[in-house]
This record gives sequence, structure tokens and C-alpha cells, in this order.
Amino acid sequence: MTTTIVTVGAGQAAAVAARALRRRGFDGRIELIGAEPEAPYQRPPLSKEYLAGDDDCGLDLLSEQWCAANDVHLRLGQPAVVIRPERGLVELADGTEVAAAGVLLATGGSPRRLRDVGGERVHYLRTRRDADRLRAELRPGVHVIVIGAGFIGAEVAATSRGRGAEVTMVEALDVPLQRVLGREIGTTCAAIHREQGVTLRLGESVESVVETPTGVVVTTSGGRIEGDLVVVGIGITPNTAVAERSGLAVDNGILVDEYCRTAVPNVYAAGDVANHWHPLFGERIRVEHFDNASRQATAAANNMIGRSTVYADPHWFWSDQYDHNLQYTGHAPVWDELVVRGSVEERDFSAFYLREGLVRAAFAVDRGGDVLVAKELISAQISVEASVLADEDFDLAELTALEEQL
Ligand SMILES: Cc1cc2nc3c(=O)[nH]c(=O)nc-3n(C[C@H](O)[C@H](O)[C@H](O)COP(=O)(O)OP(=O)(O)OC[C@H]3O[C@@H](n4cnc5c(N)ncnc54)[C@H](O)[C@@H]3O)c2cc1C
Repeated sequence: MTTTIVTVGAGQAAAVAARALRRRGFDGRIELIGAEPEAPYQRPPLSKEYLAGDDDCGLDLLSEQWCAANDVHLRLGQPAVVIRPERGLVELADGTEVAAAGVLLATGGSPRRLRDVGGERVHYLRTRRDADRLRAELRPGVHVIVIGAGFIGAEVAATSRGRGAEVTMVEALDVPLQRVLGREIGTTCAAIHREQGVTLRLGESVESVVETPTGVVVTTSGGRIEGDLVVVGIGITPNTAVAERSGLAVDNGILVDEYCRTAVPNVYAAGDVANHWHPLFGERIRVEHFDNASRQATAAANNMIGRSTVYADPHWFWSDQYDHNLQYTGHAPVWDELVVRGSVEERDFSAFYLREGLVRAAFAVDRGGDVLVAKELISAQISVEASVLADEDFDLAELTALEEQL
């Protein structure tokens, strides 16, 4: 009997897993089941280049030719409903049963919705179709109200400004991204938007969104905002329905161990939907980053074909806003010291989040190199003096090189 590996979901993690399986010599059948009608594509450009109107930014992840040459089968536009591991199959919404010796759940997430809010002028941004619908509306002079100043909201604000739109961004917190970056750095991120002409309404929660014949009225705890369209970017919820129907353990995502395994043999999960045990951080963590989806899917693929691989990546993501490249690595729900290197005022800096003398996370504006070093420091748990991190005359790369020589 041919062994078949099936991915439920045909997005970033699924596409990378398919590639990894073939690259590592898996010669069984590979099937990707996707609820969306499109072949796998990447999402980061949807709020950046693609939203800005660039059709050549390269969204596609797996070409038809590659799939044909590698015997990878796409079943698109048909969601999976349940996995029946005891029968070795995955059931689709139309009743089709797909044989599966191993299953990778890679169902991603769906935008969190504002209750009772909908309509033509209200946008969410997760899929290519969402991006197509939104970008058709982004014209010079149009007034976009962005709800949520997280990374997606901030990118939409930046791209909308780039297309000549007026932007008001509403955020319930006093300081955007405060929980992740702290007050000082969050305030700097807010200032970057203000400098680019975005009107910020911070510390205001949305009470209603009402469409009128000519626009939209958002009422917040701070008053009324009239605009032409609304983009809601208030986070995602993991798509766990299939896992739940299949009896898998779910708690803010599908629970997997450091090998990406669920408690059911031959059923794995990766990407935005996976709440994984992180051996480095010593806790469960679920993140929503491109790089995580790729690396975790690769680890899952390895494990599915018997190449034991612990997934302990410290995580990394980027965001592009205006002319700035922002990057973050690590995981620091709390920290006892924040060290800044460079100039916050000139928007050219890195911030290191330390706990008990160890770098737990780092964030940088236009200093990706520092973040790469920080990622290594976090991984290897190398302790560093705050004064060294802050010293611009010291080449941080030496910290990791030094460690290798010990
Ligand atoms: C607009 C936008 C911009 C982003 N920008 C960045 C960025 O700058 N940097 C960064 O690090 N990350 C970014 N991300 C996040 C990154 O794209 C995600 O982390 C990544 O796509 C996660 O991959 P995934 O495979 O887990 O999920 P997805 O890529 O979402 O794929 C999941 C797929 O599964 C499908 N599915 C769900 N349920 C079923 C079912 N029952 N049956 C079949 N299929 C199903 C979904 O329809 C979807 O196609 C961005 C995301 C968005 C939306």
C-alpha cells in the first residue's frame, strides 16, 4: 500500500511541508487539502506590496509545474471536516474520503471579527480575495479607518498612506503593541505613524460601526469618526474546528509537543494553528509568523518520516511599514531590563529585552543584523552585559563568534 501524507490546509505551512517531504526523499503520495480555491500563496505581501498594487510581487508558493513534477496533489476549494485516524482517512465537506497514513494540520487562523459588524465597507485581511477587495478601494483621498494598531493594522495604515489615502487608526490600548514591546518602544511605533500623517485614536474602544449610503461611521469611546471604509485588524483565532471534531486536544490552538505531534499517532500540526511546547522557553506558545510556519512545518515533515527533529526555534518575524523594516525575535512576556542600542529619536535602533541577564527578545527598526545576533544569543542562552549591547562601538556579531571559540 502506498503511504499518503495529507495536509489539512494548503497555505504556508502545508506548502513548505510538501517541499520538505520531497526534498528529503519521501516517495509516497502527498495531498494538500485547501478550503480556499487558490493554490498555496504567501500572505505577507497582502498588506504590503500586493496591497500597494504590485501584481508581480510573487505570491505563489507552489507552481502547477512543480506539483506535477513532484507528484503533489492539490484538492482546492473543499474544506476538510474531520480526520479519522483509526480508519486512516480525512473526510471532506462533500463527503469525499481521502486516504491518509499521516496528517499535518495546517489550517492557519481566521480574522477575529467585531461582533455585529459587517457590510461592503468593512474589510478584514487574511486572504488574497480580501486583499483584492481592499486594494480596489484604496485611492488617493479616500478615508480609511483602521481598527487595531497591531502589525497587520499598522501595515495597512502604512500602505494606505502610500496610496494617498487619509488614515485614522483606532487602538484600544494607550500605547500600541505595549504588551509585546513596552511603553517606550510602543510609543515610538505610534510616533512613526503620526509622522506619516496617520491620525491616531489611542485608548479608544470601538462601540459601533455603521454603514451609511456614502460611507461609514465608527463610534468609539472617544467620539465619532466618519470615513469611507473600515479595515479591522484585531488579531486572529486559530482554525481548530477540524481538530476539535477529530477529538484532538485544543487550547488556543492545537496542542502539539516539541516534535509537532498531537497526542494521536501520525497526526501533526504546524503554523499559526499549532500551540507548541517550546523547550527553550519552557512553556506552550502559539505564534502567527511566516518564518515559524515554514520552520515548524519543516520540523513536522521530518518527524512524519522518522527523522526525529525537535522544534526549538526562538521565532522571528518582520514587518515593513513606510520605509522602515521592523524585526522581532524571541519571546518575552516579561522582562526586567530594556537595553536600547542606537537612536530611538532617529528611528534607527534595536531594543533588547533581558530577564535575569539573558536576552529573551529583541526588536529593531532598520537593524535586522542586530536581531539576527539576538536570535543566536537567545538560542544559545548566552549571557551579555547590558553595557555591551548598548555600546555602538562594539560589533555584536562578535558575541556569537566569541561563543563559538570557547
Ligand atoms: C496580511 C498578512 C500579512 C502578514 N505579514 C507578515 C509579515 O510581515 N511577517 C510575518 O512573519 N508574518 C506575516 N503574516 C503571517 C503569516 O502569513 C502567517 O503566519 C502564515 O501564513 C501562517 O501559515 P499557515 O500555513 O499556518 O496558515 P495559512 O497560510 O493561513 O494557511 C492555512 C490555510 O488552511 C486553510 N484551511 C483552514 N481550514 C481548513 C479546512 N478545514 N480544510 C482545508 N483547508 C483549511 C485556510 O483557508 C488557509 O488557506 C501575515 C499574515 C497576513 C494575513
